[in-house]
Amino acid sequence: MAIVSAAGQKLSAEAAVIGGGPAGLVSAIALAAAGVDSVLIAPAAEPDHRTTALLAGSVTALETLGVWQACLPHAAPLRKIRIIDDTGRLWRAPEVCFAAAEIGLDAFGYNIENRHLLAALEARAAELKLPRIARPARAVASDADGVNVAFAEGELRVQLVIGADGARSLCRAAASIGSQRWSYPQAALTLNLAHARPHENVSTEFHGASGPFTLVPLPGRRSSLVWVLAPDEAEKLAAMTDAELAAEVERRAHWLLGTMRVEPGRGMFPLAVETADCLARGRIALVGEAAHVVPPIGAQGLNLGLRDAAAIAEIVADARRGNCDLGAPDVLARYEADRRADVSSRTVAVDLLNRSLLADFVPVQGIRGLSLYLVDRIGPLRRALMREGVAPAVSQPRLMRGEMV
Ligand SMILES: Cc1cc2nc3c(=O)[nH]c(=O)nc-3n(C[C@H](O)[C@H](O)[C@H](O)COP(=O)(O)OP(=O)(O)OC[C@H]3O[C@@H](n4cnc5c(N)ncnc54)[C@H](O)[C@@H]3O)c2cc1C
Repeated sequence: MAIVSAAGQKLSAEAAVIGGGPAGLVSAIALAAAGVDSVLIAPAAEPDHRTTALLAGSVTALETLGVWQACLPHAAPLRKIRIIDDTGRLWRAPEVCFAAAEIGLDAFGYNIENRHLLAALEARAAELKLPRIARPARAVASDADGVNVAFAEGELRVQLVIGADGARSLCRAAASIGSQRWSYPQAALTLNLAHARPHENVSTEFHGASGPFTLVPLPGRRSSLVWVLAPDEAEKLAAMTDAELAAEVERRAHWLLGTMRVEPGRGMFPLAVETADCLARGRIALVGEAAHVVPPIGAQGLNLGLRDAAAIAEIVADARRGNCDLGAPDVLARYEADRRADVSSRTVAVDLLNRSLLADFVPVQGIRGLSLYLVDRIGPLRRALMREGVAPAVSQPRLMRGEMV
């Protein structure tokens, strides 16, 4: 990584990416691959014990950018997804199993620990000698001709800022973009486990009355767990010893994977949805959680974020080929038009799925059960749902199709 030292200087570039999480790193690598003169403004990311289920399109994009080769040894293929109704309610849905082979895929995607994903992205950025200011941006201000980004030791002038600075985004505020946010009465407890029985590359979701309990394969006899439940229950579990917690997880998993050992590193995430009112304004385009936060249900969050990164890089690369201003209103309008339907439809789908689990209203439980019954019984419906889950019809940027931006 080419660390830019800019004590007291005024630097300039065509574009800046602010934020070094996965969405920011993918944006910066894709811009560099397209030959755009860009700077990444990002301190090193915080340690993250979570894992991410990357769906097939995201994997293809990472392959195309030369990142996936370093991820593969740490990633487990997801060949099947099982959904089991564990609500204990009167109207229980049938068990449904989705198999990637049914839609001609070897796997729906791969699960990888975030630390390995970030390390692979950082290594690729270093290989590409991507200019980086390893400091947080302090202020972002756009005018008619460009954007100024201030950091501790200097200032950078660019045509376009890509705001990848997470849920509490400075870039979103700088662009005066509001957001719609609501919280659920739930939290996600996350941890990784070693277990006695093989997972056979099957991800299993037990749908409980307070939310899903999802075991996702990792390489070997290991899995990650995202356990969504009421915040006070989550606190109680998080305070347990490793042995007590392992026994609780074994019980909730109905001993599917045998005896378990809890690995170091637990996380707790309050569940919320937040959607930016628009995705770009005033020479600032938002990607990843700066633009949208969705609950960790159905592995949608970062997959959406990577499609944002791929889309903005493609649009910027096209603008550059046409010798256009990279932050011009029509460039931002194309980004908004390309991404809005994908972001809105995924947010609504995840919200509906989560609410249908929480609902005590018997007819809602009946509708949920019937929907899963139909999905289980009607092959074309099930296959259409799987295809849409892996690769949305409305948004497949070039990188997701294996083409360079
Ligand atoms: C429990 C859980 C499980 C999940 N599982 C999945 C899954 O299986 N599949 C999936 O697709 N998604 C999943 N997600 C969602 C996924 O984790 C997020 O979408 C993803 O981490 C967001 O990445 P990001 O790069 O947008 O933001 P972040 O990872 O938050 O990165 C933002 C970065 O910006 C930096 N930053 C902030 N302010 C500044 C500044 N002023 N200057 C410079 N840098 C700044 C921060 O330090 C940080 O490094 C899950 C989420 C949770 C909570």
